Amino acid sequence: MNRHYDLIAIGGGSGGLSVAERAARYGAKTAVVERGRLGGTCVNVGCVPKKVMWFGASIAHTLHDAASYGFHIGEQSFDWARLKTARDDYVHGINDWYHTYLADSDIAELTGEARFVDARTIEVAGEQYTADHIVIAPGGAPMVPDTEGAELGITSDGFFELEQLPRRVAVVGSGYIAVELAGMLNALGSDVTMLLRREHLLRTFDAMLRENLTEEMFGDGIDILARTQVRRVSREDNGSLCIESENGQRLEGFDELIWAIGRYPLTANLNLPACGVGTDEHGYIPTDKFQQTNVEGIYAIGDVTGRAQLTPIAIAAGRRLSDRLFGGMEDRYLSYDNIATVVFSHPPIGTVGLTESVARDRHGDSVKVYQTRFTAMYNALTGRKQKTAMKLVTVGAQEKVVGCHVIGPGADEMLQGFAVAIRMGATKKDLDDTVAIHPTSSEELVTMK
Ligand SMILES: Cc1cc2nc3c(=O)[nH]c(=O)nc-3n(C[C@H](O)[C@H](O)[C@H](O)COP(=O)(O)OP(=O)(O)OC[C@H]3O[C@@H](n4cnc5c(N)ncnc54)[C@H](O)[C@@H]3O)c2cc1C
Repeated sequence: MNRHYDLIAIGGGSGGLSVAERAARYGAKTAVVERGRLGGTCVNVGCVPKKVMWFGASIAHTLHDAASYGFHIGEQSFDWARLKTARDDYVHGINDWYHTYLADSDIAELTGEARFVDARTIEVAGEQYTADHIVIAPGGAPMVPDTEGAELGITSDGFFELEQLPRRVAVVGSGYIAVELAGMLNALGSDVTMLLRREHLLRTFDAMLRENLTEEMFGDGIDILARTQVRRVSREDNGSLCIESENGQRLEGFDELIWAIGRYPLTANLNLPACGVGTDEHGYIPTDKFQQTNVEGIYAIGDVTGRAQLTPIAIAAGRRLSDRLFGGMEDRYLSYDNIATVVFSHPPIGTVGLTESVARDRHGDSVKVYQTRFTAMYNALTGRKQKTAMKLVTVGAQEKVVGCHVIGPGADEMLQGFAVAIRMGATKKDLDDTVAIHPTSSEELVTMK
């Protein structure tokens, strides 16, 4: 067996699969190393199963609204186990598809944990393999704090293993994963309390988005406790969990506690000193704009770089890297500017570009903001008066649009096209000159005064 490859990707997730797939398409001899399930975080414990649960939660909201549209729906029940089985089957189907796809694409699948032997050699399951180019794409894993009783909680990975809907849940964290898990559980019937170490949800997002989302989550019955740092978790005699906070609060009666406090890069087991690749103080691997690490021939892509930890970023960085290495596109690299992203909250958020506060820091008085807040037509009839809110952040006399932020039903599907326009340098006038689609919520983005 020839153990030398043109390119080896460590990690069969979004980044590793994409870099290998594109390299193989150019005729490179390629291998992917995966120690777990193909597809990585996104397919197995991230975007994909999360979105399935979000659809389920959205159906719960729709059922709630149905009576306002004249539907008389009888007694409702929800079968968590059935949804979980259907979701897991769907994910396993994707795993299987990847095995076939790799084989059909002539990409070798190396099963096991990779560790470096030297800068051109890795070891997997006791065998050594060499490559001209090695791409490090091991992703990350959820953090659990060093708090007494922390092991009594689960993480987002554990959320996807839950066999039944927890009756009462504490979600610790304020980022998008915390918000999404809290929203889904609440919609499906759990009693949810969020514990935030600081003041706000979604701290890095535009203030308009987090303020509106906080209001909606309160409205949906989610308890949000700001400035509540967990000091201790314990199990009560009745089996439930008790949380004590640094500020002396004692919160009792939880079936589950979910830590959603961030993720760490999976670099510890790679034996990086053997190849000389450096990490920062958090274990992330710094790269230049070409995804090149400090060692020639070794690259890092995806979550392990610590930048914009999203599936399309890992995919785009991987594809561009192979375009450069094997496709003759010498200057090809991924720009991390103007990345559109969605938070699958209830209602969802779509956002691209600069927040108002970052724009004002960078561009001062030349920033002009357009905003609107309204009840979408769907909600005009429902008892639940969800609000839709939008903000355009513009800069300079031309009013170039540098940020677009939307929260409300449909925001998740609304932003992709606006992201293209913003990337192409659209101005407010370009939006104004675009004929609206009526009646929609998105038409407000081209009619804002
Ligand atoms: C709950 C949740 C929801 C998310 N939702 C979204 C979303 O809606 N949209 C979005 O864009 N992003 C989302 N993400 C983020 C997204 O999943 C990641 O950004 C993406 O998966 C990163 O891809 P990657 O290739 O860097 O790593 P991963 O997809 O994590 O793949 C890394 C792979 O490497 C393997 N591995 C690790 N170490 C080794 C080793 N030493 N040897 C062999 N194999 C190894 C791992 O088993 C894993 O399969 C979500 C993440 C989570 C946790």
